[in-house]
Amino acid sequence: RIAYVNGDFLPLEEARVSVLDRGFLFADGIYEVSAVLEGKLVDNESHLIRLERSVGEIQLAMPETRERIEEIQKELIARNSLVEGVVYLQVTRGAADRDFAFPKGVKPSLVMFTQEKNIVASPAAQKGIAVKTLPDIRWARRDIKSVALLAQVLAKQAAVEAGCQEAWMIEDGEITEGGSSTVFIVTKDDVVVTRPNSNAILPGCTRKALLALAEERQIRIEERAFSVDEALAAKEAFITSASSFLQPVVTIDGKQVADGKPGPLATRLREIYIDFARTTAR
Ligand code: PLP
Repeated sequence: RIAYVNGDFLPLEEARVSVLDRGFLFADGIYEVSAVLEGKLVDNESHLIRLERSVGEIQLAMPETRERIEEIQKELIARNSLVEGVVYLQVTRGAADRDFAFPKGVKPSLVMFTQEKNIVASPAAQKGIAVKTLPDIRWARRDIKSVALLAQVLAKQAAVEAGCQEAWMIEDGEITEGGSSTVFIVTKDDVVVTRPNSNAILPGCTRKALLALAEERQIRIEERAFSVDEALAAKEAFITSASSFLQPVVTIDGKQVADGKPGPLATRLREIYIDFARTTAR
């Protein structure tokens, strides 16, 4: 595999950043993950716009223009002959002697690599996934896609140990989001419910695209927070993320959602999103 590090394309095992990189020392950095389908980037503009916003929120300059970043992403896809999977990219404040406040005159680091993954032909999407709920112990600016992911690492590890594929994080009796996904339910009267964007969650790119696609099809949407009890009483539940598109949720803490099978609206919305991804990827 080939990775990109600050201007160079290198074999992954030779790709290195300094031990003084602030991403390593302070998690002082931002990341993005874009899906690749048929060798093309899915909804990438949305991810680069969010990247620009995230770096701005931590007072970091974009390391390259959005156009240049996309060129590098595309070159990396080509060099890896990647057909389906993801491109991971990370921007950090760069390497400087360790001190909390921003160093002067340091160039941000830009690192990218690819991962192969079957997103469309996914057994998890066919069968649905199990989720485990946990307290949301993260910081107060979850709208920033920061590389400080220790809370999610611990939550997702606890989920895996419980035989689950995703963690749902709970705050004040309501679900904020998944460890690496946005959470949705479908009510008894077929309303798709998802939490509104705020500092409490990451504004999902897949969430945004899916809500627009649903709206075009006159599917009813409500943006509000909901509890685990409401999710358990719902007709359907599902999650979205760039690296999985949409996955139905069939159990929560071992209890079935409806009949414990992927719901019809989740299945339909997944098909709609796959079609959008295929037709708009570039
Ligand atoms: N919420 C969190 C905490 C995430 O880490 C992610 C993606 O990794 C998402 C939501 C989904 O965002 P997107 O659809 O842009 O991948």
